[in-house]
Amino acid sequence: MEPLRSLILAAAGNDTIRRLVATAPGARSVVARFVAGETVDDALAAVTALAADGRRATLDHLGENAGDPASAESAVSAYLRLLEALRVKALTDHAEVSVKLSALGLRADEGAALDRAARICAAAHEGGTTVTIDMEEHDTVEATLRVVRELRRTWPSVGAVLQSYLRRTEADAAELAVDGSRVRLCKGAYAAPSTVAFATAGEVDLSYVRCANILLAGGGYPMFATHDPRLIEVLGERVRWYGCREGTYEYQLLFGVRPDEQRRLAAEGETVRVYVPFGEQWYGYLMRRLAERPANTAFFLRALASR
Ligand code: FAD
Repeated sequence: MEPLRSLILAAAGNDTIRRLVATAPGARSVVARFVAGETVDDALAAVTALAADGRRATLDHLGENAGDPASAESAVSAYLRLLEALRVKALTDHAEVSVKLSALGLRADEGAALDRAARICAAAHEGGTTVTIDMEEHDTVEATLRVVRELRRTWPSVGAVLQSYLRRTEADAAELAVDGSRVRLCKGAYAAPSTVAFATAGEVDLSYVRCANILLAGGGYPMFATHDPRLIEVLGERVRWYGCREGTYEYQLLFGVRPDEQRRLAAEGETVRVYVPFGEQWYGYLMRRLAERPANTAFFLRALASR
């Protein structure tokens, strides 16, 4: 992994740096580029704006690594409030939710995290929408896939996420490429050692294409999460090669990243879903976005210094 990226990802786990950044006066303007706002109303406004030009959303209530049951329960309540608001505003056709199991206490108690995720899935199902379970650090992949398998016994539409930077992912893709299986494929945003992850960008990209082929050849619903122009071009070619019709797969991009490309794909008739984070706990999310692109880090440091 490149030195700058590992440095930023290490800072993401450092409490002193978190306090420093979170209270810096210039931080908010940078956060606003990647985060839709702090409240459910902010999230709904983002969904409505995206829907205006045919983009869908997956909403992430920010928060991760809940250290105690009370924080995990408060994350569940936030999702239940969000799902109720989507239902009341008749936005469930346009938006689903993305959930991090670490925010539901996965590291402390897998069974309790499963129960909490099940309550969110039940509410989503009642409201007529779906849930995707985000993938996090490499040492939680096994537990996360176990929880997804368990949830899918009751709610088969629960989406899984695979990260092409992990060596294991091709095998996971083969297992998940079955009828009705919704699978988001991304490169992977966390620090991971070379024993489990590919070290170079080229290897990660090749792995992405191999996994995409496996998912397209299976009977599931692939969700291609990337902003990479070269990959998007390859995916378009692969989709045509497999004869997949629009509506049997989708593209996903992050809120605030390449919005023109999001609109271009949607205007071409592709299904496009934007990952919309909202809430107060934006620090870990923001640091991963900065790690992806050195230019963002420079922009961030300038904004901090200018206030
Ligand atoms: P890169 O090679 O990183 O970027 C390609 C190009 O895209 C860059 O040159 C730049 O032009 C543009 N770009 C990329 N990132 C940024 C940015 N932050 N700011 C501005 N421009 C940018 N990761 C997980 O580990 N688990 C998840 O559950 C997960 N869910 C995701 C859901 C969605 C919808 C998306 C889009 C990403 C998700 N990710 C997740 C993050 C993902 O793993 C990558 O870290 C991220 O998408 C960057 O990789 P890339 O494919 O865009 O390619």
